[in-house]
Amino acid sequence: MVTEPFLTVGKDESGQFLSIDTQVSGRGGLVCPFCNRPLVAVRGLVRIHHFRHEGATCRESKKPTTLIPGWDHFHLALPGKIVIELLKQSDREYHVSFDVRNVAGMFRKLEDYGLIQNGYSRYELTDTAMVVPGLLSLSKFDPWIRHRLQARLREKQDLIAVGQIHPAHYEVEAARQEQILSASLYLMELTTDDGFKIYKIGRTRRATEQRLLEVIRDVAAAQQMTVKGKLLKVIQCAGHVEKYLLWKYRTMAFQIARFQEFLALDSSNASRLKAEMTRFENSRRAPTVEESVIISGAWRTRKDGKDLTIPAAVGDEA
Ligand SMILES: [Zn+2]
Repeated sequence: MVTEPFLTVGKDESGQFLSIDTQVSGRGGLVCPFCNRPLVAVRGLVRIHHFRHEGATCRESKKPTTLIPGWDHFHLALPGKIVIELLKQSDREYHVSFDVRNVAGMFRKLEDYGLIQNGYSRYELTDTAMVVPGLLSLSKFDPWIRHRLQARLREKQDLIAVGQIHPAHYEVEAARQEQILSASLYLMELTTDDGFKIYKIGRTRRATEQRLLEVIRDVAAAQQMTVKGKLLKVIQCAGHVEKYLLWKYRTMAFQIARFQEFLALDSSNASRLKAEMTRFENSRRAPTVEESVIISGAWRTRKDGKDLTIPAAVGDEA
């Protein structure tokens, strides 16, 4: 439950910001956006993938809260005891209201952190509280995280305006959000030649058909059998819900060789997941002007917040 600031965005020679997700381990010719020193990509199994400085880490890169709650972690930086209490809620499916009598002493704390609210018959968990165990529906998670992503950008802009942080903090955040928000979310169904079905949730900024072929190839090689696959769902500009969806379905996680993000679902859980994605797709609100600026990459040309141009099309991938 440690929240360490990790640098997850580096800058290339042309000034483009690149996410750690696009890098392989080692030196990749990227520099720190704050001090311009060379970076080394660290993509291990234990810690969050990040860049470390070649040599001393600059102070500025340690400053930002680079971890995004609801993306990088689901404990939301809450005290451990509260997280444990909230995680117990996942044992009781469909039981989303919180019985205060079971958590004597916790009540005040939960209220202080905005985790319970007065429901019409009793105290209930707030949306924030339901994110921790993954009980919040995808449709409700979407506005929850989008609101927070925007708040992070505004906070950085405010601090830059008063000279409290380096201007690159906004760029790092915007570049990261662009990577996440502009990606397509997909759900794939893969069937091995013995009839076993597995599912994969993921996100990509490339063509999803191409991604499907890669996944089929990887799974076939790992399982040493013929694999058929199809895309069950592709939702554009929805990368921001990928990690939450994997968190929500974590008990059904299925690992194939070194590949993660697979799920072993029976037919009823597969239908449930598809239905949840469809409800989200149909109910979500279109990107706001501010979100469009991030998704389209237009933020790169309006660092001072002026000369705002609204992009004609949002999320069109090359
Ligand atoms: Zn640095």
